[in-house]
Amino acid sequence: MKTIGLIGGMSWESSAVYYELINKKVKEELGGFHSAKSIMVSVDFAEIEILQRKDDWNGLTKYMIKSAKQLENAGADLILLCTNTMHLCSEEIIKNTTIPFLHIADATGKIIQSKGLRKLALLGTKFTMERDFYRTILKKYGIDVIIPDVDDRELIHKVIYEELVLGTIQSNSREAYKRIIKDLENKGAEGVILGCTEIPLLIKQEDVDIPIFNTTKIHAESAVEIALKN
Ligand code: GLU
Repeated sequence: MKTIGLIGGMSWESSAVYYELINKKVKEELGGFHSAKSIMVSVDFAEIEILQRKDDWNGLTKYMIKSAKQLENAGADLILLCTNTMHLCSEEIIKNTTIPFLHIADATGKIIQSKGLRKLALLGTKFTMERDFYRTILKKYGIDVIIPDVDDRELIHKVIYEELVLGTIQSNSREAYKRIIKDLENKGAEGVILGCTEIPLLIKQEDVDIPIFNTTKIHAESAVEIALKN
């Protein structure tokens, strides 16, 4: 079994879910006492959030490269960056390390493609919804993305930073997300990508009528598949 390296802490609320998911998946595959071999470098999210707010992507990229190198030096065989947003730094991480990097949008794109869906709603931070880095990868899998309008993007982003990363789950926010997903469904979305690793803490499949794609689960389980492959 390969050792899965995780860059976590963004936020730790979702990194804890990653840890649980990789272990559950290994147990499901191998049974008995088996659990995942893993190493996590967990950052202080306060430091990350300040840099994000300043739009200091140079600083963030340096921070992510340093964390990835720590994993590499500690003996990880592959790298998972446990956040969608911070994949803005993925190209530089890949350039500066020698072990494989499993991109969350590649893992998600493959699953969506296998279901034959082509038009997907994307919910995430403003960085993920508005910049190109995520949708460009999905495009490779024949997937077109639609995003909420500007006010709803603001709302989605605010709930992530003011509630979900702090572990706060509010039913009025769930209702707002459900309304936004319904609007996107009415605009032709065949499914919805929960493109922020904390959104699955708020939105479950039973909350919406179209299929959800939980990027946390897809990413974690894809990593286990790689870790168990010969
Ligand atoms: N975990 C989040 C994501 O998947 C947001 C927090 C962050 O900015 O890393 O995008």
